[in-house]
Amino acid sequence: MRQTIVAGNWKMNASKEEVSTLVMGILSGMSEVESKVIVCSPFPYLSQVEALTTHSQLHLGAQTVSIHPSGAHTGEVSVDMIKDFGADYVIVGHSERRSMYGETDQDVANKVKTVVDSGLTALFCIGETLEEREAGETEAVVARQIQVVIDTCGIDAFRNIIIAYEPIWAIGTGVTASPQQAQDTHASIRALLATNDENIAQSTPILYGGSMNPSNAAELIACEDIDGGLIGGASLKAEDFLQICKAG
Ligand code: PEP
Repeated sequence: MRQTIVAGNWKMNASKEEVSTLVMGILSGMSEVESKVIVCSPFPYLSQVEALTTHSQLHLGAQTVSIHPSGAHTGEVSVDMIKDFGADYVIVGHSERRSMYGETDQDVANKVKTVVDSGLTALFCIGETLEEREAGETEAVVARQIQVVIDTCGIDAFRNIIIAYEPIWAIGTGVTASPQQAQDTHASIRALLATNDENIAQSTPILYGGSMNPSNAAELIACEDIDGGLIGGASLKAEDFLQICKAG
C-alpha cells in the first residue's frame, strides 16, 4: 500500500513574511491530514522553513541541486548544503528547468544520481509537451525520460525516487489532464518499472502534477496508480493546499 504524498512547489515565489504566513497556515490544518506533505522552498527560505517545521509533520524539499559537491560553481547549491537545512527532498527535472535552463534528460539523470547517492529523495519530474501528446508520443516520451535515469542510476535508485508525471500542457495553465489520461500514463510508467523490478514498480510513488486544485484533486488521487500530487500554484495558498492534502 503506497502512502499518498502531496508536495508543494513554490517555484520562485514568496517573501519572508509570506513564507511565514503560508507555513503557519499549513501547520494549523495538518492534524486533519493523513498524506505525507512536502513543501519545496526557494533556497533562501530553507532555513526559515526548517525552523518553522522542526518536530512537525511537514517535510522540507528544495527545487533543484548542483551535481558538484563544492568549489568554483558560482550561484550553484550543493546537496550537502540542502541537507544542512534539514531538507529530505529535491525536485529534479521540472519542465521549467528542462525548457528554460536547458537541462537534458542526461543532466536530469545526473542530478537524480547526486540526490539519491547523498541519501535524499528525488522528486523526479517527467512529462510530454502538447505536440507530443497530440502525436501520440506520451508513453514513449516518459519512457525515454525514465530509461535515462535507470541507465544512469540503476533500478534500485527508485527506492529513493518519487516520480512526478507532469504533462507540460497542464502546468500552470488551468488545464488538467483528465483522471483517465493521467491514470493511463501512470499505469504505463508503472509497467515500465515492472519490466525492471516488480517490487520497485509497486512501491514507487507516482504523483500527478498540472493544475491540480481543491476541486479536482480527490478524483485524480482516487485513480489506482496516482499516489498524490505535485502542486504549483495551489500550494501558495494554505487553505487550497490543505484541501488537496486532505483529498489524499
Ligand atoms: C508544477 O509546476 O509542478 C505544477 C504542477 O504547477 P501547477 O500546479 O501550477 O500547474
